[in-house]
Amino acid sequence: MSFPENFTPELVVESPGRINLIGEHTDYNLGYVLPTAIEKKITFKFKRNHTEKECNLYSLGYNTGFTLQLDKIARSNVEWENYILGVLNEILLRTDKLRGFDCTIESKLPMGSGLSSSAALECGLAFGLNELFDLGLSKMDIVQLSQKAEHTFVGTQCGIMDQFASVMSEKGHVILLDCKSLEHQQIPIHIAPYKMIMLNTKVSHNLASSEYNTRKRECEEGVAIIKKKYPEVMSLRDVTATMIQEFEETMDATLFKRCSFIVSENDRVLKTANALKANDLKLFGSLLYEAHEGISKLYEVSCPESDFLVDFSKQYNAVLGARQTGGGFGGCTLNIVHKDKVNAFVEEATKAYKEAFNIELEAFEVQPSAGTYIQN
Ligand code: ADP
Ligand code: MG
Repeated sequence: MSFPENFTPELVVESPGRINLIGEHTDYNLGYVLPTAIEKKITFKFKRNHTEKECNLYSLGYNTGFTLQLDKIARSNVEWENYILGVLNEILLRTDKLRGFDCTIESKLPMGSGLSSSAALECGLAFGLNELFDLGLSKMDIVQLSQKAEHTFVGTQCGIMDQFASVMSEKGHVILLDCKSLEHQQIPIHIAPYKMIMLNTKVSHNLASSEYNTRKRECEEGVAIIKKKYPEVMSLRDVTATMIQEFEETMDATLFKRCSFIVSENDRVLKTANALKANDLKLFGSLLYEAHEGISKLYEVSCPESDFLVDFSKQYNAVLGARQTGGGFGGCTLNIVHKDKVNAFVEEATKAYKEAFNIELEAFEVQPSAGTYIQN
């Protein structure tokens, strides 16, 4: 397919990745999360091609594209095409206004690093087509249909956080999102003189998707046990620290660790939101370290590379806190670092990481940014 070279778009949409400050694996347990969009994003260029059904999509990163017919949407053997097909399928279930279009996709967002390039891909496409064809979808529709697309066509039973953050974020804010009610609060964040520095471990262990589904099942098993005593409990969100403690002796040790982590992680999200409102950065940092401890020892979704970086950061007074972010088994760690010490910290971490794992660390700063928008 050669259309990208002489492609004059009608519409350009920027669709950001996201970080989650704290609240890992809490979204599918209907708890709390604290994400925000970041400046790294996927750029979509769209134009209508005035056909009824033909759509041409091209990913510049993959240097490959495909053509599809809107009346013949089915799952593909090519993984990334399913994100696109899934979104189109969900849109077609909601409206009959979609027609043929051409689209190029150019990404500055590393894939599979826990920055949610998948949600950026889904939501950017849905957002753009909504504008291009005046589909009348709300932002919340876009969030929900994108999540659904990932369930049905990609096969990842993701929660709603990634899509919500990619679409709904506001510059300079983090979102305190209640994944049960979808109520949310935009919380202004002022962390100067500190910066949010991501260290990309550059590993994404294969375990990620199978273990994700295992953790989800373990949480459900935990809920079923707790429910016998507390019938009102519908998810781990409804379980308090005192309640979970009652099951320490009777519940299988692994299930107990998983459930305790989720219960305490929900509590940490609320504490972090309050710490940010009060500008208590020390507390914010210590909650991140605490969260990583749980991610590593109780939920067991860390890996030697992430543990190494988090432990390494503890030697520095200039680092207030750190943890692995994302689904687990690699991806990036988030570090809260004093601006005067960023360079030294990154340099020394890079050297130590290279010695330990022979991998070139990649570091970048993130700033709370706006959700999906149209480029003028
Ligand atoms: P994450 O969301 O953390 O980046 P995922 O595994 O959920 O990781 O999603 C990554 C997948 O999304 C990629 O393997 C690819 O299929 C798809 N994807 C992301 N960005 C692009 C892009 N620019 N072009 C094509 N496919 C992409
Ligand atoms: Mg993803």
